[in-house]
Amino acid sequence: MTMLQPRVDLTLDPTVWPRTAGRVGGVLAIGGVDVRDLALEYGTPAYVLDEDDFRERCRQWRVAFRAGAADGDVYYAGKSFLCVAVARWVAAEGLSLDVCTGGELAVAERAGFPADRILFHGNNKSVEELRRAVTTGVGRVVLDSFEELARLAFIAEAAGVRQRVLIRVTPGVEAHTHSYVATGQEDQKFGFSLAAGAAAEAVRRVLALPSLELVGLHCHIGSQIFDTSGFRLAAHRMVGLLAEVRAEHGVELPELNLGGGLGIAYTSEDAPLPVEEVADRLRAVVTAECATAGLAVPRLGVEPGRAVSGPTTVTLYEVGTVKELPGLRTYVSVDGGMSDNIRTALYDAHYTAVLASRTSTAPPRVVTVCGKHCESGDIVVHDVALAADLAPGDLLAVPASGAYHRSMASNYNHVPRPPVIAVRNGQARVLVRRETEDDLLRLDAAGLDTAELDTEDLDTEDEA
Ligand SMILES: *Cc1c(COP(=O)(O)O)cnc(C)c1O
Repeated sequence: MTMLQPRVDLTLDPTVWPRTAGRVGGVLAIGGVDVRDLALEYGTPAYVLDEDDFRERCRQWRVAFRAGAADGDVYYAGKSFLCVAVARWVAAEGLSLDVCTGGELAVAERAGFPADRILFHGNNKSVEELRRAVTTGVGRVVLDSFEELARLAFIAEAAGVRQRVLIRVTPGVEAHTHSYVATGQEDQKFGFSLAAGAAAEAVRRVLALPSLELVGLHCHIGSQIFDTSGFRLAAHRMVGLLAEVRAEHGVELPELNLGGGLGIAYTSEDAPLPVEEVADRLRAVVTAECATAGLAVPRLGVEPGRAVSGPTTVTLYEVGTVKELPGLRTYVSVDGGMSDNIRTALYDAHYTAVLASRTSTAPPRVVTVCGKHCESGDIVVHDVALAADLAPGDLLAVPASGAYHRSMASNYNHVPRPPVIAVRNGQARVLVRRETEDDLLRLDAAGLDTAELDTEDLDTEDEA
């Protein structure tokens, strides 16, 4: 077992917890709502989303990147978490929206999201998805392959539309958590390679197609990034390509989208960069590179997902069992697990948790918080210090669960997916309701007819 300094955290680290989270009389409250009331009303597990925090983060990004003004666009990456209410908040706060499937586009449409502020990603958009993007009037389609380029040109032409597009470029920069590797990055399914000349060829082809309007270039170097060196190297190379495009075609492309990927704090060990600092550094690099190349500074686009939605949400669980394995480890089982948080099992991600429904004077001990699924890798939090008197019925809260939790949730073991509850000013409301067993069974084509349930043959064989 990793030796952590056992320490029960009564103060909530503001980089990890939603802005309005705090202890009231020892009990965790978010958005002014006591978590015990939330558990009673909506059950557990539940995702509790701090609406003010979400909207404030949208505003911070909008201001930092001057979105809506002449020189910037912030596209919220819907894949991190999207529902109709969230799409409306994003629109109301002046952000644009990045979708990457027909399903995400359907949510945006239901929300009434302005189509010209939607950008459509994906390395294998179907013909149906491309048609829908064109007929909906999606502002930008990000081209990811030569096949798609031809398909979209054909669809747009047939619809009598000139579709605005960006070309997704693989700039040869792979940003991982703290470092980037300058060679392995070409080997991936997304985009057109810069080094191999595919990006330049894509530009040639798009410029030759009257039904496509090339408005710029796009790149996305990775996720959960904590420094700007990868972004700066990518910006450098992308401006280089903009300069090549002008040299070859006499065209200055007006937009440069540098993607998403800014990291957040899952535990106090993580130190995310303030968005203002990221914006300043990126703008400085792009401005300097453009000055050197003699290019006008393009409109800068970014696509934050995790950095907007991640820190806004806390997952509430109820403790069911506490199993002590002497000399080994203590397992605290909660009523959810890998179906509502796949990140721990998938990426060995680190989280923290607190006893939320009360405080305790019991000494802390390091435990493993695990889920209820039939898989030993079903861990929610590795090694966290919790009060030694933790008992069934206690509520645990896991912060930083707003991005890639609900959106990646599954029905593994036929577990209905938890609801998303927005809290604000002492009020709670359901954004996405809890799934029911009926929801799950509705997809089962066998229905209610039990005619197939005929055991007579079995009985006969047994007797024979
Ligand atoms: C996933 C993704 C994002 C968002 O990434 P975050 O790490 O959540 O900020 C943005 N753009 C593209 C193209 C992506 O694939």
